Amino acid sequence: MHYFENYCAECDWAASTEELASRSEVGNAAVAHHVESGHEIDSRSLTFPASGSSLRSTSH
Ligand SMILES: [Zn+2]
Repeated sequence: MHYFENYCAECDWAASTEELASRSEVGNAAVAHHVESGHEIDSRSLTFPASGSSLRSTSH
């Protein structure tokens, strides 16, 4: 699973496409946080191979 995340460099704020429907929604949330707090927003891509999910299929 591949996620795009915007996160704040100055506090714990973060938004990712894991929680929001689209990358543009994440961008909008980041802009909103920047406007109201003046904090600097950074972005990154996240890849979660299988951690935290039970989607791994075992052959049996
Ligand atoms: Zn912040």
